[in-house]
Amino acid sequence: MNITNWIDDFKEPLFIAGPCSAESEEQMLRIASELPPQVKIFRAGIWKPRTKPNSFEGVGAIGLNWLKKVKDDYGFKITTEIANANHAKLALEYDVDILWIGARTTVNPFQVQEIAEALKGTDKIVLVKNPVNPDLDLWIGALERLNGQGITKLGAIHRGFSTYKKDRYRNQPQWQIALDFKNKYPEIPLLCDPSHIAGDRNLVEEVAQKSFNFGFDGLMVETHHTPDEAWSDAAQQVTPEKLKSIIENLKIRSQDQ
Ligand code: PEP
Ligand code: MN
Repeated sequence: MNITNWIDDFKEPLFIAGPCSAESEEQMLRIASELPPQVKIFRAGIWKPRTKPNSFEGVGAIGLNWLKKVKDDYGFKITTEIANANHAKLALEYDVDILWIGARTTVNPFQVQEIAEALKGTDKIVLVKNPVNPDLDLWIGALERLNGQGITKLGAIHRGFSTYKKDRYRNQPQWQIALDFKNKYPEIPLLCDPSHIAGDRNLVEEVAQKSFNFGFDGLMVETHHTPDEAWSDAAQQVTPEKLKSIIENLKIRSQDQ
């Protein structure tokens, strides 16, 4: 793939944080105001592909205004999930800096292709989460589809793989798959999403550390000022204060674990 280095523009390692879902402008600004200074990119989902109908599916396009306010008021780069070509167009219109494709979209080649075509030639950064199932080629295929449309600032996010029976974690990490990805495409930054792997805020730190032991380039961590009241993924979100302590305790490329 033809990849442009973008991660060196950020302080390493790269930390992305913010709520699973945008809930209100006040919620977004509150979280933004409390995030530790190591966080350079603010995340919030505004279109949420939920497993079951009648769940909260995101505030929709109005959230783009709130993201912009976070950027203007606090200087973060902003990122949100895009799950179809229309989302892609809207996100470009609102100048969202970084777009990500979620695990439920990565599994669908036609949908990824449509998104890739809607983003054709953009110099925005596009991050691709692994598909829900442990299929390395499907993950790589999604990146290739984007690259095929001239998108060269790419990154990958490891968020673990769905299983029928929950083990210690919500999603099985199956680290070997991410490490195979890293070996094959060392030029594509690889981030870890310890929140969706862990599924439990008390386990986020250990998953984050594990990924750093493997030499990942950064983290995307779901962060909420009142996690128990979050409208989605309440159990796995950490407070900004907890995130600060996770970041400060991280041993970078530790050899001893
Ligand atoms: C999310 O980041 O909130 C999300 C829905 O993640 P995933 O696509 O990894 O399930
Ligand atoms: Mn989530």
